[in-house]
Amino acid sequence: MLTGPASLFSDLDVDVKPDAPLGRLTWYGVGGRADLLVRPATIEALQTLARRCARSGIPLRIFGSGANLLIADEGTDGIVIRLDHPAFREVRYNPTGTERLLKAMAGADMARTLMDATRRGLGGLAQMAGIPATIGGAVRMNAGGKFGAIGDAVESVTCITAGGQRVTYPAGELRFEYRRTNIPDPIILSTTFRLEPGDPVALRRRVKEIFAFKKSSQPLGENSAGCAFKNPVDPVTEQRVSAGRLIDEAGLKGLTRGGAKVSRHHANFIVTEPGATATDVIGVMEEVRRRVLDDCGIELEREIEYWRRGES
Ligand SMILES: Cc1cc2nc3c(=O)[nH]c(=O)nc-3n(C[C@H](O)[C@H](O)[C@H](O)COP(=O)(O)OP(=O)(O)OC[C@H]3O[C@@H](n4cnc5c(N)ncnc54)[C@H](O)[C@@H]3O)c2cc1C
Repeated sequence: MLTGPASLFSDLDVDVKPDAPLGRLTWYGVGGRADLLVRPATIEALQTLARRCARSGIPLRIFGSGANLLIADEGTDGIVIRLDHPAFREVRYNPTGTERLLKAMAGADMARTLMDATRRGLGGLAQMAGIPATIGGAVRMNAGGKFGAIGDAVESVTCITAGGQRVTYPAGELRFEYRRTNIPDPIILSTTFRLEPGDPVALRRRVKEIFAFKKSSQPLGENSAGCAFKNPVDPVTEQRVSAGRLIDEAGLKGLTRGGAKVSRHHANFIVTEPGATATDVIGVMEEVRRRVLDDCGIELEREIEYWRRGES
């Protein structure tokens, strides 16, 4: 008889990979392995798995596309769930007979969804150009930037609770704030967006402009997880200030630990070279945090999520 986490899914429609090389799946491409990587094939299997994990107290983490994640070199415990089965990648237009709505499952790719909506003459997601993500990861993080965030276009979000129930929150019940939301549940299952009809050529031009801006201001060609730190609130002005500017002003561009360094292109990006480890990245982050605090008295908070054993 199976015991431990494996007994949680032995009768479910899931694909299981023990000792999976999770770090390699992230945009950083560094870090260790997951004790168990589980890919459900159906929503029902996901619901049952969530319920059983909660009852057994087994940590459950959801992996999107790994664009905001750093996996510790010693790996992660519990169960990592990846929603990349076709059932979790579907995108449907007009799901309720309302032409302006698009419903995307959490595992759908953000860039593909944006390009497809744009081709169909539906605007409202251009602010997501150049942001690597799944729909679930983008909504969880309220990803965005200078041109807006994903929350701006959300009509409703459907989640799976820790008890395995499906629950839908209309936009009116949701708060999308800077890189966070008030979504209480562990799993985002799908999101419905409210889009605006427009000329496909003009919409595509706008997406290209935003992408070009990102490409010129961020090291998109290098391995990173985007901005390492959130833009902090200046205690004097009570306004958010650019973390990249504070890191630059502290003279930290180019700061290197092993194979990780502060990008010279954008000081809030910590980029890696082949052979780098997660420990190198953390080493750079700790040094940056300490020196920025010394330099201007402002404490930086990590934007990148760091997954390690014993924490979930
Ligand atoms: C080159 C580069 C540029 C970037 N530029 C930006 C930018 O301009 N703006 C910005 O905001 N971010 C940016 N990022 C960071 C990243 O793209 C975003 O945070 C994105 O939302 C991560 O999505 P993901 O699917 O990869 O999520 P992951 O990194 O896999 O996960 C991030 C978090 O979301 C959770 N999560 C993922 N899927 C689900 C789900 N279905 N249900 C519940 N929780 C879930 C994870 O558990 C984790 O807590 C950039 C990253 C890179 C590599």
